Amino acid sequence: DPSAQIVTIDPATGAELARYDAMAPGDVERTLAAVHGAAGQWAATSVAERAALLRSLAAVLRGDADRLAALATAEMGKPLAEARGEVLKSATTAEYYAEAGPALLANAPVDLDTPEVEAWVAQEPIGVVLAVMPWNFPIWQVMRAAIPIVMAGNGLLLKHSPNVTGSALAMREAFVAAGFPADLVGVLVVAEPDVPQTIDGLIADPSVAAVTLTGSNRAGAAVGAAAGRAAKPSVLELGGSDPFVVLADADVAAAAAAGVKARFHNAGQSCVCAKRFVVHADVAQEFTRRFIEGARALVLGDPTDAATQIGPLARADLREVLQRQVDESVAAGAELAAGGRPVDGPGCFYEPTVLTGTGPGMAVFDEETFGPVAAIAVARDDDHAVELANATEFGLGLSVWSASTDHALAVARRITSGAAFVNAIVASDPRLPFGGTKRSGYGRELAAPGLLAFSNSRTFWVA
Ligand code: NAP
Repeated sequence: DPSAQIVTIDPATGAELARYDAMAPGDVERTLAAVHGAAGQWAATSVAERAALLRSLAAVLRGDADRLAALATAEMGKPLAEARGEVLKSATTAEYYAEAGPALLANAPVDLDTPEVEAWVAQEPIGVVLAVMPWNFPIWQVMRAAIPIVMAGNGLLLKHSPNVTGSALAMREAFVAAGFPADLVGVLVVAEPDVPQTIDGLIADPSVAAVTLTGSNRAGAAVGAAAGRAAKPSVLELGGSDPFVVLADADVAAAAAAGVKARFHNAGQSCVCAKRFVVHADVAQEFTRRFIEGARALVLGDPTDAATQIGPLARADLREVLQRQVDESVAAGAELAAGGRPVDGPGCFYEPTVLTGTGPGMAVFDEETFGPVAAIAVARDDDHAVELANATEFGLGLSVWSASTDHALAVARRITSGAAFVNAIVASDPRLPFGGTKRSGYGRELAAPGLLAFSNSRTFWVA
């Protein structure tokens, strides 16, 4: 329907923010053609030119951080300081790739032990990468994909979540303001129910070289299948149900304080939020008491207020899913130790919630909870902790707490994940690869793998 509209809503107030006309199929084709044309020219630029423009992008992002943060907060409700944080992290990432990118993309000679052959590996652009992105870090998720994609000499066609359409358009403007070719980054404004079909068509289109998706398993499976049919590379960054494992010798006060941050930042809407707390029986009582205290003390409210620690959920339907998960878990025997209800009044607020006595067979343990709901499970011993931590289809991040690094690492090695953090909260860093195992996806973003994922590692053999 060419007249379909996307309406963005401030989830803290329910107020309408903006309306955007969804693109008709012809507009989608024209946008792709423009990015494809720009990418063809961009591929011929030197890595030094690309690095210089990334430095300029970092400056644009820093200079515009307040406006971009306010936009992200209005569109999806995260506290303003967190929104500003993701803009600045994007700037840092642009600077990281400007600095590290040229060496990572340089020809790598290979010594074949013969004077008759000269061989090397070059990193060449692949063309247009389609990026399908979620709303939970509306700036960061896009930038963490986009920056290495353009550094590698490619174009970017962005399909963002509809509720953050303003952020999507603002990021395109940031690339243009930084001096990138106007059409190198294209934004698709497309609305349900056309999305799966549009994305399928684009992945099959000869002008699209590869696809990267950050989002749910449902969307990831659809996009991965389409990429498979088209025999094109894909990176999938999907959901998580990260375990936060507290061993008997942990600093319980520190673990509980960190656990509250790890579960409730961004109102619990992060793929690497700690979602399942697996606590050794010896320290379970103290940990649970401290954790509940911490959850109850969180300041919930207007995300533009500097004192606020928890804003609303990004959309009303997300709150309904969360309530269903809590209710089903309580019906299955979990105990509600804090929260458990929507907050009355306007906006999509949900009480910081703690469930104890959880385990496999309960929704909060088996499914990803994308909101402020913590599931605590007690482990008899380390073996049981490993078993509980692994009792999930996901495998994104892992946090283990112990006074002994050796002890923590020994346990961490037995739990499957894409990242293991000891006595620290799981977080991404542009210098380190980020990605999942099991049903949390495949491929890596950030660091060298994130740059080379969308680069043709081309072998040269000169006799
Ligand atoms: P989502 O519903 O999967 O949406 C993500 C994106 O995929 C949106 O742009 C969405 O567009 C699109 N999409 C949905 N179905 C599709 C299909 N069949 N074909 C093509 N595109 C499709 O996820 P979300 O609710 O926005 O985000 C939350 C999820 O993302 C959580 O599971 C979270 O764990 C995960 N996540 C993972 C990471 C990571 O790095 N591993 C990071 C952040 C978030 P429409 O909305 O227009 O349908």
